[in-house]
Amino acid sequence: MSDTADGRPAAGLKVLFVASECAPFAKTGGLADVAGSLPKALRPRGIDARVVMPLYRGIHWDALDVLDGALSVPIGRATAHGRVRLDRLPRSDAPVYFLEHHHYYDREYLYGSYSDNLERFTFLSRGALQLCRALGWYPDIVHANDWQTALVPVYVNTVEWAQPLHGAASLYTIHNLAYQGVTDRGAFFLTGLGPEHDNSNEFEHFGTLNLTKAAIAHATLITTVSPNYALEIQTAAYGYGLDGVLRGRASDLFGIVNGIDPEEWNPATDPHLPARFSASDLRGKAVCKAELQKEAGLPVREDVPLFGLVARLVPQKGIDVLAYAIDRILDLDVQLILLGTGDPEAESFFAQVSDERGDRFRAWLQFNNGRAHRIEAGSDFFLMPSRFEPCGLNQLYSLAYGTLPVVRATGGLADTVRGYDEATGRGTGFSFHDLTPGALFDTVGWAVSTWYDRPQHVRQMRLEAMAEDFSWQHAAAEYEKLYLLAYERRRRHPFTPPRAPSAAAVAPAFPSGRTRPGAGRNKAGRTRAPAASWPARGEVTRRRLS
Ligand code: ADP
Repeated sequence: MSDTADGRPAAGLKVLFVASECAPFAKTGGLADVAGSLPKALRPRGIDARVVMPLYRGIHWDALDVLDGALSVPIGRATAHGRVRLDRLPRSDAPVYFLEHHHYYDREYLYGSYSDNLERFTFLSRGALQLCRALGWYPDIVHANDWQTALVPVYVNTVEWAQPLHGAASLYTIHNLAYQGVTDRGAFFLTGLGPEHDNSNEFEHFGTLNLTKAAIAHATLITTVSPNYALEIQTAAYGYGLDGVLRGRASDLFGIVNGIDPEEWNPATDPHLPARFSASDLRGKAVCKAELQKEAGLPVREDVPLFGLVARLVPQKGIDVLAYAIDRILDLDVQLILLGTGDPEAESFFAQVSDERGDRFRAWLQFNNGRAHRIEAGSDFFLMPSRFEPCGLNQLYSLAYGTLPVVRATGGLADTVRGYDEATGRGTGFSFHDLTPGALFDTVGWAVSTWYDRPQHVRQMRLEAMAEDFSWQHAAAEYEKLYLLAYERRRRHPFTPPRAPSAAAVAPAFPSGRTRPGAGRNKAGRTRAPAASWPARGEVTRRRLS
């Protein structure tokens, strides 16, 4: 592997990160955190990482710069015209390009069950590559994420043949295999690919069109968000029908645990907390616990073990298993605070338990970031009885806040929580394997007995948990290695840094003279007429696709 003058092997490498969501601009889950954090962590390593995402409703588009010119994207046999706006990731110089097409993205939800999702995300996937062409900026690596961008590795191998982008290696990251981008095979023409690609080695999967399957077939390398999940998805139990396809690429499949953003999740600086604390001074944590008990209307008791849970209330999180165990758990001398939204049956169930067992249990059925922070800080233990968990962020936050996770040992939970060893008092949490109410209850009971009978072990584990390193710097170093490997696989030679690596680092996010500040929308919500150099009615041609 070659080194640059400054010793960074990947300095000068160009990475295009394509994602359907990116924090803080648009977020429904962990993918947004990765998109908002990883490129930021790559830039100081000398990697020219840039993000492309859709311009959704709710993003403050009026304030964004606009690339001068239309973005024309083939969709099926037609062409959709959009345009591009630009911002940077907060506290970073990493450019974020927003693909603007109001018909596709100015909607209530990011995904929803829209019937034209294939068309919407074809625009994103192919548009990201068209953007590179417009910029004259050709990445060495295209990094696609989940089904919404699954077409990116396919296009690099097909429609970009004999074009500069064909030289790019592709990395495809699976954030959650439960969502694969499955649709009717009759919609295949929208991809613009020839019928020779509609076969069982690429898109066709048991009679449906499966975008994830095609990405797995075409990507130079595949990653997922923890090493254990990378193994699990190769089994029938976790593979959601793609385990065989993934086994076929086992040697190209890697797992990298996500980092956490220390500016957002750091108990020493967290503005959401009533008091701050660190491993060297835990007094603030006791204040957080008392204030959390008050906020939840629970008895303020320092001696009782307080459990927290923050999750989407969906089967993935094992909350149905908790429902069967909760009465027995609440018969112990414990407190439990749950924060979450999701399935209506789950919400009404926990609301009822909250009414009936209000002395020990509080359910907050809402999305509330401040409360999520206060639960992480004020709890002694954090419950995650997940059915599957590709990476999981909440257990990482818990560890950073000295709150011991009680987890089912699956996916990233198994990789990141070190089980308690009663003989030595070592470990960072409590884990169980069987997804049953009995196993969950027993493990909660084990944590409770440790709290009451071996408090010195709880103190010791807390310090071990807070000393764990789940920084993005660590994850970025892992991704860097894979980028270099992918490059070598694609080009058949190691990455050779450009002669003047610093030039790539300062390459403009837009070609000079091609931006205009903040072209906004008029009252009718349509974009204003484009500049003269644009095609007439440039930005949104609502062409019917047939
Ligand atoms: P997933 O991405 O599967 O939902 P993760 O544990 O990876 O699960 O990340 C969930 C993120 O969403 C965490 O940052 C968590 O704190 C946050 N979150 C989930 N539900 C809520 C809620 N009701 N209120 C505030 N934050 C929430």
